[in-house]
Amino acid sequence: MNHPLYMARALELARRGLYSTHPNPRVGCVVVAEGTVVGEGWHVRAGESHAEVHALRQAGERARGATAYVTLEPCSHHGRTPPCAEALVAAGVGRVVAAMQDPNPQVSGRGLARLRQAGIEVEVGVLEAEARELNAGFVKRMERGLPLVRVKLAMSLDGRTAMASGESQWITGAPARAAVQRLRARSSVVLTGADTVLADGARLTVRGEELGLAPEQAALALQRPPLRVLVDGGLRVPLDAPFFQAGPALVASCAAEREAAYRAAGHELLALPGEADRVDLPALLAELAARGANEVLVEAGPRLAGAFARLGLVDEYRIFVAPKFLGSTARPLLELPLERMAEARALKIRDIRAVGEDWQIVAVPA
Ligand SMILES: [Zn+2]
Repeated sequence: MNHPLYMARALELARRGLYSTHPNPRVGCVVVAEGTVVGEGWHVRAGESHAEVHALRQAGERARGATAYVTLEPCSHHGRTPPCAEALVAAGVGRVVAAMQDPNPQVSGRGLARLRQAGIEVEVGVLEAEARELNAGFVKRMERGLPLVRVKLAMSLDGRTAMASGESQWITGAPARAAVQRLRARSSVVLTGADTVLADGARLTVRGEELGLAPEQAALALQRPPLRVLVDGGLRVPLDAPFFQAGPALVASCAAEREAAYRAAGHELLALPGEADRVDLPALLAELAARGANEVLVEAGPRLAGAFARLGLVDEYRIFVAPKFLGSTARPLLELPLERMAEARALKIRDIRAVGEDWQIVAVPA
């Protein structure tokens, strides 16, 4: 029994759902009988069969007495599909190895208990860290009622994002922009602010041809595009802006006025508490989580991105670094006024790699 090897394969399968399963978690399953993989499956999209069902169907009779490797505890509740724990019991598997317990309070431990009760041997925790990482947004939403917040930034080597005039297009090259497209596609929500939309005409859409994915996966990504959220406390962005022309959006504001106008144009206006036209960001995040958002990608200017940083709301920074200097009058990465060294925000760099001519840094608050 090579648990990590088969679990790694199950995780590989789960990753195929990176762009399509939300609000559900990405899950993969491998059924192994006498050292041979007899069934594989992954969850494609919410409302459709879970990974276990696909794998068991492929395994057929060979599932009897076999070991099922699942990247997440099999579900035990009747959601939009019947519970997988029952399917595993019915298929007569002898053992289930799960990477992690389901953080969903409707499941957490009950799926495993159901399997044990049926006499199935159960093991949990194989490649758990990798499994949690793959569904970090789902795990955070289940455990804390908040989505994972990823802030994407693009800067020059001297830490600048735009010229003083605001001119900022195309700091990074095409491969970095494709990476940003994939970050958008995997997110439940792409969030920006009025400054960015007004200055750049940003639309924050996912464009299939720019994803750099296999056609099949790009098609999956486009079936479930992220919700575009505009933080516009003072309702400054006009309804004829390219952002609103690009499809339905959610506008988070401190004002409820003109609600009918937004609705008539196909958008939703969400009135949240806030002072001086500054939207209460924690309240917004809680609302997005309540709507099933696992991962939120923030693509905003220094003011809004800085507000997320100041409030300690960021789980991960994705900083694209272009090998150029924009000079000392250009704009900073974040509006984060700090006075003393003791106030410096410490980060841990998780990953750094070349993306075309640019570099991508993945950093998390230390
Ligand atoms: Zn299930």
